[in-house]
Amino acid sequence: MPQTVITAYTLRALMTCPRRVWLDRNGEPDAAVEVAPDFSNRGLEHEKAISAAMFGPVQTVPAASWPEAAAATQDLMRRGVPGIRGAALESTITFSQTYTVRGRVDWLRRVWQPSRLGRWSYEPIEIKYRAQLQDEDKLQLDLYIWLLQNVQDGQPSGWFWLGHDESGGPAHQIEHDYRQERLFAVLEQAADVLQAADAPPIFLASHCQICRWRAACEQTASASRDITLLPGLSRMTWEHLHREDIHTLDQILSLPPEALKRFKGVGQTRAHEFHTFAQAAVHSRPVQRQPLPEILRQPGIMFDLETRLDSGLPWCFGWQVDGQPATAAIIDPYCEDDRLLLPDGAQVMVAADSDEGWRLLAETAQKHPGLLFHWGGFEMGVLRQTAPPDVVDALQGRLHDLNKTFKKTCVLPVRGTSIKKVAPYLGFRWPPGATALTAWADYNAWLKDNDRDALARACAYNRADVEALTIIWRWLVDSSLP
Ligand code: SF4
Repeated sequence: MPQTVITAYTLRALMTCPRRVWLDRNGEPDAAVEVAPDFSNRGLEHEKAISAAMFGPVQTVPAASWPEAAAATQDLMRRGVPGIRGAALESTITFSQTYTVRGRVDWLRRVWQPSRLGRWSYEPIEIKYRAQLQDEDKLQLDLYIWLLQNVQDGQPSGWFWLGHDESGGPAHQIEHDYRQERLFAVLEQAADVLQAADAPPIFLASHCQICRWRAACEQTASASRDITLLPGLSRMTWEHLHREDIHTLDQILSLPPEALKRFKGVGQTRAHEFHTFAQAAVHSRPVQRQPLPEILRQPGIMFDLETRLDSGLPWCFGWQVDGQPATAAIIDPYCEDDRLLLPDGAQVMVAADSDEGWRLLAETAQKHPGLLFHWGGFEMGVLRQTAPPDVVDALQGRLHDLNKTFKKTCVLPVRGTSIKKVAPYLGFRWPPGATALTAWADYNAWLKDNDRDALARACAYNRADVEALTIIWRWLVDSSLP
C-alpha cells in the first residue's frame, strides 16, 4: 500500500482547517467542487515576474509526474546549476507509521557552501505577492529547509522574497528563522488528522470561500443542524462550545439565552441572536425579532446597481416602483437610441454616462413618494462617491437599507442574510448561471459587439436583483411572524 503523502499544501491547509486535510484524503471526490483559482493565479504571475527580474532565463524543473520532477531536481542539484525553479523535494518521516513528505520550492539558489553534493549547496527562496508573512508561510519554509537538509546535509538558510519594488525585484528579502520543533509538531498533527477515522468538526468561516468542500460541508452542517451555522460565531466561541460537548442547534435551543452568556465571546445580544436562530433552524420556520417599523410598510421604489469592475462607476441602474414592472438603464456613450427593445421583450433605457443614469433614477424618485429600498450598504456608498451632488442631496435621505431592517426584524432558518440566501428561501430564483460577473461580461459583449442577447441577459440579472427586493419587502409586510 502506498505511503500517505504530506505536502506543503497539507500543512498550510491544516493551519486553517484540519477538516479540509481529512477530506482531501478521505472525502468523496464527487462532492468536491473546484473553485476559480483567482488568488493563486495572482501569486503565480507575481512569482514569474520576480523570477524573471532576479534570475533571468533559467532551467525549470519540468511539470511532469512527481517521480520525474523529483529525479530531475536531484540531477540538476548534482550538476550544481546556479538556480532551480519549481524544485521537487521528497523525504520520509515516521510517527506511528511512515509518511512521504513532499515540497515544491519556488526557487533553489546555489551557494558556495560545501555539501554532500560537492563544493556547493542550495538554499530555498519562497516568493510571495504579499508584503506580510503569515504563520503558514513560515511553516512552509521550515518544511523546505528540512527537506533540503535531508538531501545535501547541513542546514541551509531560507529566504522570503516579499512584494515587489520599482525595479521589479522583491521589496523585502527576509532570512527565515528555521524551527524544527514547530515543523515536527505540525507534521505529527497532520499525520493524526490523516489517520483519524472521522472527519474533524465543521467550522464555516471566510476560509471556506475558496475551499472545494464548501458545498459538502454546508450540506452536512445543515442536515445535522451543526452549531457552525450560528450567525457571527467566532472560532473562540465554537471551540468553547465543542469543549462543553455542545454540537447542535437543538442543544443551543435547549438552553435559556441567559445560559449561553457563559461561553467565551457571547454577550447579551449574541446570546439572543444564537437562541433565535436555533429556534428558526430547529423548527424550520422564520422567527420574528421585532415588528416591522410602520414607515417601512409604505410602498417605495426598489433599487439596485451594477458597477464596473475597472472604475467602480455604475453601468446599470435598476428600479421598480410598487405595482409596476422593473426598469433598467444602462450606460452606453456610443448608443444613439435612448431606449432599446431587447430580444426577451424587455425594454432598457440608455444613458450616456453614469451622471445621466443617476438623473434618470432621481426623476423617477421625484415622481413617486416613499423610500428607495436597497440591500446592504453598497448602493449608498456608490451614490455618495459617483452621483452628481444635487442627486446625492435628493436621494440620500430616501435610501433605506432593507438588509439592515431584515436582520433586525426576523431570522430565517438559513445561514447568512445575503439577498442570494434570503430571496431563494422565499421561493425566488435568479436566471440559471447568472451572477454579477456574468452580467458584467455580457454588458461588455454588448459594448464590443452590439450583442443584444448578451445585453438582455445582463439586464435580466439586474431585473432579478430588483424583483428579489420586491419579494422580500412584500414578505416582510405581509407575513405575520410568530
Ligand atoms: S468548507 Fe470550510 S469547514 Fe469545510 S473543509 Fe473547507 S475550509 Fe473546512
